[in-house]
Amino acid sequence: MSSHALNLHDFTRAELAALMSAWDLSPVHAARLWNYLYYEREDNIAAMIDLPVRLRTRLEAETTLGRLPVARETHSSDGFTRKYLLALADGHRIETVLMRYTGRTTACVSSQVGCAMGCVFCATGQMGYTRHLTTGEIVAQAVHVDRVLRATAAETPALAEAGHGSPHHRHERLRNIVLMGMGEPLHNYDAVMKAIDILRDSSGMALGAKKICISTVGVVPGIIRLADENRPMHLAVSLHGATQAERLALVPAARAWPLDMLMDACRYYTTKLGRRIFFEWTLIEGKNDGPDQAHAVGALLRGMPAQVNLIPLNPTAGYAGAPSENAAAKKFQAILADYGLPCTVRQRRGIDIGAGCGQLAVAE
Ligand code: SAH
Ligand code: SF4
Repeated sequence: MSSHALNLHDFTRAELAALMSAWDLSPVHAARLWNYLYYEREDNIAAMIDLPVRLRTRLEAETTLGRLPVARETHSSDGFTRKYLLALADGHRIETVLMRYTGRTTACVSSQVGCAMGCVFCATGQMGYTRHLTTGEIVAQAVHVDRVLRATAAETPALAEAGHGSPHHRHERLRNIVLMGMGEPLHNYDAVMKAIDILRDSSGMALGAKKICISTVGVVPGIIRLADENRPMHLAVSLHGATQAERLALVPAARAWPLDMLMDACRYYTTKLGRRIFFEWTLIEGKNDGPDQAHAVGALLRGMPAQVNLIPLNPTAGYAGAPSENAAAKKFQAILADYGLPCTVRQRRGIDIGAGCGQLAVAE
């Protein structure tokens, strides 16, 4: 297969129809092909027997299904988390995480190889930036996780019974996606939004917009664009510091997009869309987990439709800080409650396999 082959996961349904039309084929075949890609999750063109032979031959010659081979798979002892090291066609690798707790199935998807933002406590930031992922590479991660869920259901009849649809498709489906893997999604805006459009397509994976969360370090132009384009997904903004100086010490991107500018963009977003923003706060013992900081966050976000997610620091090779004690997290949460801010403390999962927030990294 040529390395210049078209990746079928790069195409929206309309684009696939246009390709078929350019190849002088009926739109019926575009619909069937789409069905194979996103309903059957077929991973072999030869097995797409509802397509004319002529089309299958051409697809085999000129396209790739974009499947990402698993270089390594690790399962957490918590029983709920699996991490996949996936190989890209150019030899780079990325990580994707499957989480199955609280009755939900969620894929934590990467948007870049590495990350340019350099947050000091993040393993992805510590590895530096290599490149953006393509739309097809982002879509393929979700398709991979969905295939895993289908295979798992086949092994476990009880799960299959709980599934929906025809007997053939009776399996646990992927329902939620968080763009919280490797990379900064709003730094790779176009590819990420197109991938989400493909995954939301109602005759394909049909993921709900409200089941998708984009997490950003605070790329201001991206936040404004999300608002202007009226994108219906959830938005999470990684805050970590409630003053410019404290935030800058942890998040170098705050130099380009200072706190004032970020908060203006967030208010623009919540006002324009009438929706809340989730603010993420990595709790580092003795650094940003004290009552003073909690009061500063409360004052900063007061009156905004906002919810705060506290994430006790996960260990990474390049940062010496420690996670906050549970008591400090609870106190932080209680102070925010006094400001009328709902606040959750994220459960620590998958830490033993390096699948927790900010732990994803790949040795290049
Ligand atoms: N680039 C995006 C999304 C990926 S990181 C962003 O920064 O928002 C997802 C979340 O994990 C972010 O809130 C990030 O700040 C947090 N995080 C990074 N490193 C972490 C660590 N070592 N422990 C806990 N959370 C971390
Ligand atoms: Fe990049 Fe997010 Fe990690 Fe910061 S926390 S380095 S933005 S992936």
